[in-house]
Amino acid sequence: MAAKRDYYEVLGVEKSADAEAIKKAYRKLAMKYHPDRNQGDKEAEEKFKEASEAYEVLSDESKRRMYDQYGHDGMKNAFGGGGFNFDRDFTHGADLNDILNQFFGGGFGGGFGFGGGGRRRDPNAPQRGEDTEMRIRLSFEDALFGIQKDIRIHAAVSCPDCNGSGAEAGSKRATCKHCGGSGVVQQRGGFFGMFQQTCPVCQGSGSVIEKPCRKCRGDGKIASDETVTVTVPAGIADGMSVRVAGKGNAGDNNGPRGDLYLRCSVAESELFEREGQDLILRLSVSPVLLALGGEIPVETPNGTGTLKIKPGTQNGSVQRLRGQGVCAIGRHPAGDLHIVLIAETPQSLTKDQLKLLEQLREAESEKTFPTRTKQQKAAKAFAERRAKKA
Ligand SMILES: [Zn+2]
Ligand SMILES: [Zn+2]
Repeated sequence: MAAKRDYYEVLGVEKSADAEAIKKAYRKLAMKYHPDRNQGDKEAEEKFKEASEAYEVLSDESKRRMYDQYGHDGMKNAFGGGGFNFDRDFTHGADLNDILNQFFGGGFGGGFGFGGGGRRRDPNAPQRGEDTEMRIRLSFEDALFGIQKDIRIHAAVSCPDCNGSGAEAGSKRATCKHCGGSGVVQQRGGFFGMFQQTCPVCQGSGSVIEKPCRKCRGDGKIASDETVTVTVPAGIADGMSVRVAGKGNAGDNNGPRGDLYLRCSVAESELFEREGQDLILRLSVSPVLLALGGEIPVETPNGTGTLKIKPGTQNGSVQRLRGQGVCAIGRHPAGDLHIVLIAETPQSLTKDQLKLLEQLREAESEKTFPTRTKQQKAAKAFAERRAKKA
């Protein structure tokens, strides 16, 4: 199988495209490749499905973010088994009907689908519910090492009394009087004089509930709170999302629930700075240690390590411990730990300590501070040349 094309490339939009540009690009492709306009053309159908999949992801804020972060890898669980399936996973049926009705004018049945050339999709069939998003706060360590957390969530779930149908037990659905059961109504206006629109009374289903369920007032869904245990993987960064499958809102007609995306806010650490998967540790050390050399303990995500310092190490020098940063996650490989050695000027010195430093100063030679010696010579030469110009 050929490699899956980039969604932005499929729609022919920039990575920075806004919702309007994405919708416009999809509209163009949907009109061009819709199976009803390309009867029996397999290639057009594939193109239509490909564009619909790209639109499904890029028109949804949380899915788009996952895709931007992890590419197609991040989409592995976004749809049901076997990847994107148009009949099951496309949630913009209403948008598509409006697009097609406007441009094809009358004669387009208001439906869409495959096989049999424009078979109408059953509006009473279960539809996958919406994805939802919530923010969670994590400590630096929770994000670094991962954590299992119980989270209270709020979602719309299928009504248990009517099993999501919205109809009181024993009552049936009746043909919609407004559209006569067709699900569409004729409207005057636009370029074509007349165009069809989804029936506003039955929302295109062609039928209405006679006696609405008392618990959900005919909605088929009720608000519910529940506690879910989620596993936040080790290595997650601020702004990344964790997907909790099947914990979004319930779909229409008792359809499966969408997914819940937990957007992570990660607290800062007092010890480390994080840059991607790399960690930076600005380690304050004694200038005496840098001069004499030695060993000091350092904290790493994997335990306490020992840092060897060579005699004469300069302030600001960096030691890199490969693979000792944040662990690998998704497409991101494990990072490194960068230790920046910062000489801290001694303060609150005792008389004895000051005396030792005085002795050091008196014993200094040109070789003690070679950079300073070089600079002092350059400064002297500069002063001489300046005097000649005067
Ligand atoms: Zn109900
Ligand atoms: Zn109707």
